[in-house]
Amino acid sequence: MDHSANSRRMALKQLVSLGAIGALGMLRAGNGQAAASGSATKAAIPGFAGQITTRGDASYESLRQALVWHRSKPQRYPDLIVQARSEAEVAAIVRHAAQNRLKVAIRSGGHNPTGASLRDGGICLDLSPLTDIKVDKQRQIASVQTGVRAIQLVARLAEDDLTFPTAHCMTVGMGGFLLGGGIGWNHTYRSGMATLNIEGAELVLADGSRVVANAQENPDLYWAVRGGGPGLFAAVTRFQLKAYPLPKAIRVSSYILPLDKLATMTSTLDKLAPGKDPRLEILALLMHNPEAPADAPPEKSKICFLTAFAFGYSAEESRAMLAPLAQSPIAREATVREEDQPFTLMELFPKFFSTETPGGYMGRYAAESAITDEPGKILHDMADHFRTARSPICHVIASYGLNLKPHADACYSSIARHYVGCFAIWDDEKEDDYYHRWLEKSASYMDPWAKGHYVNEVDGQRHPERIQLCYSPESWQRLQVLRQKYDPQGVFHSYLAPPA
Ligand SMILES: Cc1cc2nc3c(=O)[nH]c(=O)nc-3n(C[C@H](O)[C@H](O)[C@H](O)COP(=O)(O)OP(=O)(O)OC[C@H]3O[C@@H](n4cnc5c(N)ncnc54)[C@H](O)[C@@H]3O)c2cc1C
Repeated sequence: MDHSANSRRMALKQLVSLGAIGALGMLRAGNGQAAASGSATKAAIPGFAGQITTRGDASYESLRQALVWHRSKPQRYPDLIVQARSEAEVAAIVRHAAQNRLKVAIRSGGHNPTGASLRDGGICLDLSPLTDIKVDKQRQIASVQTGVRAIQLVARLAEDDLTFPTAHCMTVGMGGFLLGGGIGWNHTYRSGMATLNIEGAELVLADGSRVVANAQENPDLYWAVRGGGPGLFAAVTRFQLKAYPLPKAIRVSSYILPLDKLATMTSTLDKLAPGKDPRLEILALLMHNPEAPADAPPEKSKICFLTAFAFGYSAEESRAMLAPLAQSPIAREATVREEDQPFTLMELFPKFFSTETPGGYMGRYAAESAITDEPGKILHDMADHFRTARSPICHVIASYGLNLKPHADACYSSIARHYVGCFAIWDDEKEDDYYHRWLEKSASYMDPWAKGHYVNEVDGQRHPERIQLCYSPESWQRLQVLRQKYDPQGVFHSYLAPPA
């Protein structure tokens, strides 16, 4: 039975039903109307035949809001929104921006927690229509345009028995994910961060010129692409990615423990994580029990949820990876255990990160992160505070074992061994202040143990100092030098910062 083809179809069906893709459709459709205002910036862009939407247009606000996947829509307003449909159009739009002193912000999948692609003034250049994927099966290289979503790449590569460590949520764009680092499926086995699997890239520079970057050509741009994140000084249109043989026997074990058994979870992971097989991905969460009512008291609802994904090529291999957990105190003290469950990679997306789960819930949204050697200490220090989270969707994720080595040749340069992300997700706009304060306090428990932060999950508007802490001092310094060299006029927006 072609189980994987069935599950691929199922997951793609789910993807199509997501609001995110509805929004994507709207982005592609444009508004088909003339400008309501006679703004000078509405003038045609030479070499671009697509729709230009300006602030005076009737569809502007709905289009602007659809650019950001979650429901916290920033109060930042570009003058123009354009969707490029080819690499040549990207070059034409950037050239036009440079000649007319307009700043450019890039958007690929729109999943950045801060909505970084929405900036005040200038052009928001949406690259989501660029979704071509070409696969060289022999060389195990995927050539991927920046608007491709996680699930699209996984589905295409599976046709050639290959895969790539994409984001865990199916609709995350490859562009922002890769540029900022990328903690993907099976990442501990795949160089730690997905960005380190970029073999080359095609870029549009600030003057509108098109260049390639790899180890031989423009090596300084190649360095910057691998980690430069949501402040890169160029538009990447295409990535050449190293693909890997598809694990055919993924097996998953999950355990639920009451939150007051947190010490059992963390002390066991402290012992097991250092010696674990790198193909075993372990995610440890603090979360609200999905079976409990939303307003259940913390002692009846807040839980530790541990999931271990074994990416083996045979069931025996995967079972051997999961065995130490099955024999550990975590399994003994769990109130719920689902062990050794078979999955295809395509099935993991809807099961663990669908819009029905905290990891993929499309609410109002804010996130902070730590790259740390002490995830257990962070979870402990944060536990009492976590109990106070009003929303049942708020959660904390610790990913054990980033398996990072110092990568002197890439801009991504945070080298602590683990990741912790805290996600405030809620529904009611009136509670925005409460949840931002809640997240601030959560971050205060993470910071003492943080060796750095994850640039895809920091809020540069509230904490500009954290952006720099995503990089080693040497990488940060080199990024500034390269920005000055490649974008001296500041055509591209840099990292999000507080309003001037
Ligand atoms: C539900 C959800 C699940 C997530 N899961 C994961 C996960 O499993 N692992 C993980 O590591 N992260 C995850 N993330 C975080 C994700 O990696 C970042 O949010 C990332 O920025 C999203 O990329 P995007 O292209 O969708 O976002 P966008 O908002 O479109 O892009 C973010 C920024 O990246 C820059 N950018 C994007 N494309 C380009 C380009 N082509 N050229 C130049 N600059 C560009 C721009 O500055 C842009 O503002 C998740 C986020 C969400 C909301």
